[in-house]
Amino acid sequence: MHHDVVVVGGGAGGLELASRLGRALGRRSGPRRVMLVDRSVFHIWKPTLHEVAAGTLDSHQEGLSYTVLARRNHFSFSLGELRGLDTAARTLKLGAMHDEEGKLLVPERQLSYRWLVLAVGSGSNFFGTPGAEHAYVLEQAADAERFRRHLQAAFTRSAFAADKRLGIAIVGGGATGVELSAELIEAHQETLASLDAEQAFRLDLTIVEAAPRILAGLPDRISAQAKTALERKQVRVMTNTKVQALQPDRLVTDQGEIPADLIVWAAGIKAAEANAGFGLATTRSNQFVVNEKLETSAAGVYALGDCAACPWVEGKLVPARAQAAHQQASFLLGVLKCLLHEREPGNGRYVYRDFGSLVSLGENKGVGNLMGGLAGRNFFVEGLIAKWMYMSLHLMHHRAILGAGGTFVLALARLLQRRVSGRLKLH
Ligand SMILES: Cc1cc2nc3c(=O)[nH]c(=O)nc-3n(C[C@H](O)[C@H](O)[C@H](O)COP(=O)(O)OP(=O)(O)OC[C@H]3O[C@@H](n4cnc5c(N)ncnc54)[C@H](O)[C@@H]3O)c2cc1C
Repeated sequence: MHHDVVVVGGGAGGLELASRLGRALGRRSGPRRVMLVDRSVFHIWKPTLHEVAAGTLDSHQEGLSYTVLARRNHFSFSLGELRGLDTAARTLKLGAMHDEEGKLLVPERQLSYRWLVLAVGSGSNFFGTPGAEHAYVLEQAADAERFRRHLQAAFTRSAFAADKRLGIAIVGGGATGVELSAELIEAHQETLASLDAEQAFRLDLTIVEAAPRILAGLPDRISAQAKTALERKQVRVMTNTKVQALQPDRLVTDQGEIPADLIVWAAGIKAAEANAGFGLATTRSNQFVVNEKLETSAAGVYALGDCAACPWVEGKLVPARAQAAHQQASFLLGVLKCLLHEREPGNGRYVYRDFGSLVSLGENKGVGNLMGGLAGRNFFVEGLIAKWMYMSLHLMHHRAILGAGGTFVLALARLLQRRVSGRLKLH
């Protein structure tokens, strides 16, 4: 099977690129010329996985089917996992996929391309910590769903347990760890509201961070605000604390042991080991090395988002964030539109623009900084305004893949659904 453009990975960046490219080509030539490949049948915007994990977002409602998105946006979709790449022959190999019972879903097969975009994202980095298998991760929707099911079971058990307590430890005080804590606190409060007084149980939630402060990549003020907000909700925030090992029921740190029924690893990212075997230049974190045009070491192969190591300022790399994946998708959209129309894409380079960061601290609260906006200044936002701005990023992603009308209908439908079935998914 041949397509002019093959995008592997339908996440924050890859799906936006395939959708916008397909729409630009139109109903007739889009599906013939653009193909998206993903190992999953549905898309969930990764920055919402902490909500899926806490049960405050239903992945079955939130997930958008790739086949429906392909039809709406005029690209072809193929279910498959990238297994091999022959950059000289411009072909890629997709591995066979099986269902939960081991039955074959799709066979191993080969695709050919003229231009390939790798947008396969990243996973967790355990930095060689022993006992990593005892931790939950939030790498994909299935991980978040698995944690949610075990969390619900743990809530139920704790309500009937003699000690009436549940311990959860989160390794990593970055945005994922902080946002997950806030959601877990709300999930616990909603659960308590439905229980008898004698079934009420305590949630001992601990965030462990090796750096001197949480949200270390953001300004001091935001990190201090987030710490205060979490501590007000009885979250124990342990900074300057190094995790030495994970055990089934505890974290071993250089500050002592932390008993934990559930452990979530939200510290550090690393791309898939398989990336290093595709014959492209990669970094120690298995990211594809790209230049400022997002070109990898092979002709006609581009990479974007978390799986790409793209130069930024002062020898740093562009951070692994949804806003970078979105910007890079926009840049490659321009390049690929030129190439598809047999025009030279010109000498434009991708420059990452940091518009700031927003962190959700629960249903009605957020903190963050916005950069380069009014008068080019960096200014801080907090409370409900920050939360609304945070939610608008999700809507902007939906707009790129569903259009403005589709996003409005979907947002309204979810609001109404939530009114009827409540905020927490308990089944
Ligand atoms: C809980 C959480 C909260 C976050 N919050 C924020 C935030 O507030 N702001 C922010 O900027 N960033 C946030 N991030 C980071 C952000 O989600 C990522 O930077 C962003 O999703 C990267 O986009 P991507 O397109 O590179 O990869 P992804 O969105 O991860 O998409 C990768 C896609 O590739 C597919 N795939 C992977 N391997 C293969 C393969 N071998 N073959 C075929 N398909 C494959 C996957 O199924 C997936 O669909 C958060 C991340 C997490 C986990």
